[in-house]
Amino acid sequence: METGTPRLSRRQALALAGSAGLAAATGAWPTGAQAQTPQPAANGGGFYRFRLGSVTITLLSDGQAVAPTFPNFAANPGRQEVYAQYLREHFIDPDRFINNFIPMVVDTGRNKVLMDTGVGPGGIQGGLGRLPAHLQAAGIRAEEIDTIFISHGHGDHIGGLTTADRRPAFPNARLYMGEADFNFWTTQQTPSAAVQANLIALRERFALVRPNQEIVPGVIAVLTPGHTVGHMAVLVTSGDAKLMHFADAGGHWLLSLRFPEHYLGFDADRELVVRTRAEMFGRAAAERMVVVGYHFAWPGVGYIRRRETYFEFVPAVFTF
Ligand SMILES: [Zn+2]
Repeated sequence: METGTPRLSRRQALALAGSAGLAAATGAWPTGAQAQTPQPAANGGGFYRFRLGSVTITLLSDGQAVAPTFPNFAANPGRQEVYAQYLREHFIDPDRFINNFIPMVVDTGRNKVLMDTGVGPGGIQGGLGRLPAHLQAAGIRAEEIDTIFISHGHGDHIGGLTTADRRPAFPNARLYMGEADFNFWTTQQTPSAAVQANLIALRERFALVRPNQEIVPGVIAVLTPGHTVGHMAVLVTSGDAKLMHFADAGGHWLLSLRFPEHYLGFDADRELVVRTRAEMFGRAAAERMVVVGYHFAWPGVGYIRRRETYFEFVPAVFTF
């Protein structure tokens, strides 16, 4: 997938993807033997970095997957025609929803906090699981991450906590997750493989957090339930500047904002998630926050604008 050479090991593939990413990031093309690796990282190396006050934010792509919008990304019965029409008005084919996976590193100067970890090594074959390569392209070593915050227990958020050989992928990180969501996922009759490997097996390393708890100075967990029972977003504050990473409480970057009743097939409590989204989007708009959605259109960063009866996502202008 990453190199077009099927016999490469995962480690070799990651190394190649990483060196290509670094070359792209520094503007230097590889020479000699390296020049024979034909695949530089696509469109900027898989990360997008900007400042928020005195904090540095790096958004990272774990990859993209293309799937039909219906039913997983818009599950309301009887609304497909209306939703499809709105997508077409935005030049999006309803049969090809481009699903992004966007973890974030917050560098406060004191701490390096990673929010969510992508699909993990199991996603490599499908073009996902690219967080390690893109961290490398962004010049961030796994060992430097001292704090990881997990928004909720779905596999595309926890899968990257461990390596293919089941070692912690971020050996020096303290792990944080909302108490309600952690307890929900780890007490299921038959937990998923991702939950077993990344939550249950790492239980000793987790600190469980309550709503509005500070994770590190300037980074606060915000309860945003409905997608899962105890889903949490993250609020980053630096001076007057605020950023909220919605994680999956953000839903679909067009439909969840335009249509107040909209919900995903993946949302556990549909009435609750609708209320949570209205409240969260309203707050983000009123406080003029920078926002990020985990599954929004890459790089997933922008603002929320309030209209009469609904909201709009306004993408941030890309800046170097
Ligand atoms: Zn997700």
